[in-house]
Amino acid sequence: MIEEEMDFENRIVSPEYSFTEDDAENSLRPKTLDEYVGQDKAKDNLRIYITAAKQRGETLDHCLLYGPPGLGKTTLAGIIARELGVNLRVTSGPAIEKQGDLVAILTSLNEGDVLFIDEIHRLPRNVEEILYPAMEDFSLDIILGKGPSARSIRLDVPHFTLVGATTRSGQLTAPLRDRFGVLLRLEMYTPEQLSQIIKRSAGILGIAVDNDGALELASRSRGTPRIANRMLKRVRDIVQVEFDGKITEETARKALDRFEIDELGLDDFDRLMLKTIISNYGGGPVGLDTLAAAVGEEAVTIEDVYEPYLMQIGFLSRTPRGRCVTQAGYEHLGLKPNSTQQMLI
Ligand code: ADP
Repeated sequence: MIEEEMDFENRIVSPEYSFTEDDAENSLRPKTLDEYVGQDKAKDNLRIYITAAKQRGETLDHCLLYGPPGLGKTTLAGIIARELGVNLRVTSGPAIEKQGDLVAILTSLNEGDVLFIDEIHRLPRNVEEILYPAMEDFSLDIILGKGPSARSIRLDVPHFTLVGATTRSGQLTAPLRDRFGVLLRLEMYTPEQLSQIIKRSAGILGIAVDNDGALELASRSRGTPRIANRMLKRVRDIVQVEFDGKITEETARKALDRFEIDELGLDDFDRLMLKTIISNYGGGPVGLDTLAAAVGEEAVTIEDVYEPYLMQIGFLSRTPRGRCVTQAGYEHLGLKPNSTQQMLI
């Protein structure tokens, strides 16, 4: 096994949210659909649905946003509320432990509000059941008492729009998924779109970056705005202390080389994962749990956070028997696939 100390918490190219970035992240969130870069298909659909709902004076259908972390699901929920001119309530699947928690939230909403539930696939099953009649008829079926004297009462809740976010729509139960009228899949961003996001963020934060500098950061940001914004801030520090303060192609490259993030945005952990599959399992196939144990990371994190980008750029493939490093992955590491491995991919 390849033994290396990995600092997962401070990984620059992690698309996951970090609490220390809370305020900064909020200040960079676009507020309107026009400010929201890319995702044209999702935006066009939303624009029509929002306009139609407003014209009819009705609430917008419940929306499910899905895609890897850091692509703008929370941001989009805020934009939907703002474009509808209503309040946004934010919670998450793991934060709602009991049925009573959800009842309290639903009964305190105002007419027309947007309720955003992040990681909605992690709602406990008995809580999810409360959500079905709430989404469908804006009512709650509450059981009072226990045993033979128990009785059920029906309670009306204000009309609301549920916006659910999940990293994979396949993790949702069918009854919950069926109750969403609008399903929107967020795609990874192109380097040009990310460079637009970087220039917008640089403007807000007062960071000097030229076009080539922005594109250099964008091309190493793994298609993910959260990573692009984080990289911008970390690179600014280095450029401020060691160079003249301006992010150009050259200073960006030098700073990112220091973080050992290569020209495709891969860092030590990506390389460790690919090298482990190659050196321990002949390039694959290797099962997810085995791989997770070998690299010391949780299987779900590998699946949700690390793999999507490695698959998107064609370095990793998923077969029924497990994960394989592709020829392009070998080449990127400067290695040659052996013949048996090549037959499998
Ligand atoms: P998610 O909820 O999918 O994990 P977020 O909505 O929290 O992602 O987005 C992470 C960060 O990326 C936010 O701070 C936001 O500023 C930025 N961002 C996401 N999508 C866009 C976009 N389309 N245009 C500009 N910035 C974006």
